[in-house]
Amino acid sequence: MSTTSDRRWTATVIGGGPAGLMAAEVLAGAGCSVTVHDHMASMGRKLLLAGRGGLNITHSEPTEELLERYGPARTRLESAIRRWPAAALRAWCADLGEPTFVGSSGRVFPQSFRATPLLRAWLARLSATGVRLETRHRFVGFASAPTAVLLDTPGGRYEIETDVVVLALGGASWPRVGSDGAWVPLIREAEVRVSALRPANCGLCVAWRPDWLERHEGAPIKNVRLTLDGVDVRGDMVITRAGVEGGPIYALAAAARDTIERDGSCTITVDLSPDLAEVQLAERIARARPGDSTTTVLRRAGLAAEAASLVRELGGRQLPAAPADLALLVKRLPLVTSATMPIDRAISSAGGVGLDEVDERFMLRRKPGVFVAGEMLDWEAPTGGYLLQASFSTAVAAAEGALAWLAERPVEPDLAGET
Ligand SMILES: Cc1cc2nc3c(=O)[nH]c(=O)nc-3n(C[C@H](O)[C@H](O)[C@H](O)COP(=O)(O)OP(=O)(O)OC[C@H]3O[C@@H](n4cnc5c(N)ncnc54)[C@H](O)[C@@H]3O)c2cc1C
Repeated sequence: MSTTSDRRWTATVIGGGPAGLMAAEVLAGAGCSVTVHDHMASMGRKLLLAGRGGLNITHSEPTEELLERYGPARTRLESAIRRWPAAALRAWCADLGEPTFVGSSGRVFPQSFRATPLLRAWLARLSATGVRLETRHRFVGFASAPTAVLLDTPGGRYEIETDVVVLALGGASWPRVGSDGAWVPLIREAEVRVSALRPANCGLCVAWRPDWLERHEGAPIKNVRLTLDGVDVRGDMVITRAGVEGGPIYALAAAARDTIERDGSCTITVDLSPDLAEVQLAERIARARPGDSTTTVLRRAGLAAEAASLVRELGGRQLPAAPADLALLVKRLPLVTSATMPIDRAISSAGGVGLDEVDERFMLRRKPGVFVAGEMLDWEAPTGGYLLQASFSTAVAAAEGALAWLAERPVEPDLAGET
């Protein structure tokens, strides 16, 4: 970006995840001199982790439906996502040599399915456009000037002042890849409201009986329907040492977390036979032969061995004998949880910088010139590519907001002509 006097604006981006790197790309593309600082030994570690099981980069559903996934945060994210929607993200991937494809569920993945080729190509392109990538640089707070930050580096602590700052420090899940949430008190010191980072898209703890767990740890319970607060989800869940994991569990995790925080525990209703109506299931159960164990009865009624065993584990010591009552239990098995899995194993985190703490340009109202993007903002969404979509879109919005804010600033005469 050139001003009337050809002064080149300087930008500090902190956090080398998808949001920070995207903000850097937009700022550098407009002519700014940009440095990205990350405290890890390399950039984009969580993006690489996300790519391990297949990088679900966005979703192919219409933007209107996609926006609904952000719940109450939709109103604040909408303009950013409409400005840089899934189509823009897919075109950007293709431009980096990774065309995308739509999976059977509507989720979008890069051709290689992984994050590594995308990140490698991206970092090379950023370096080629002059973006400086500084690793092992840790943000430790703001300095006295509005756009000055303090960084701990291998060479000591430095104060860096640039024309704009973009913070993209991520949430607090999987801290070992860099997103440790240690920034929360640092931002609060600037009197910015930050709500506590809490696990999202996470497993739920269940107190299994040890002898049952011994036999079933790692077992998938396939094709279940889970219901909580009138919301139904279907898919496979997995029994783990601490409780349950899997797509449908993650989808209900936010609601379960909020219920646990309010009531101390939460009961999810599990339908182990979602393709059969209760009466049909009761009819099948009624065909049992005299002397059949309940497990055999359930197996004959169409339940997999693991599912039948789960009925015994969760259904109480005395299972009902009457076919109608047993069918009802199979269709409405109570799964009680009183805790989410810890945040350090969650896919994402809820909480962060309050959306009312930033203006429509994603600039902190209390710190002119400091912009915020990505998961460190207080929004949450289910899995399905929505996390990366909003991280990228808010980064584009924050960087464009920074450029617009710079364009309105008078050029300081003593700096004019500097490049
Ligand atoms: C196992 C797993 C699988 C996932 N799969 C998907 C998926 O398929 N699809 C999807 O949409 N999302 C997925 N996600 C979520 C997605 O990875 C995140 O939402 C996304 O990376 C957030 O981007 P971000 O740039 O805001 O933050 P991050 O990617 O967390 O980047 C923040 C960066 O800031 C750096 N940092 C933090 N604190 C400091 C500091 N004080 N100083 C300097 N640097 C700092 C960190 O090192 C990090 O590099 C997954 C997450 C996990 C854990």
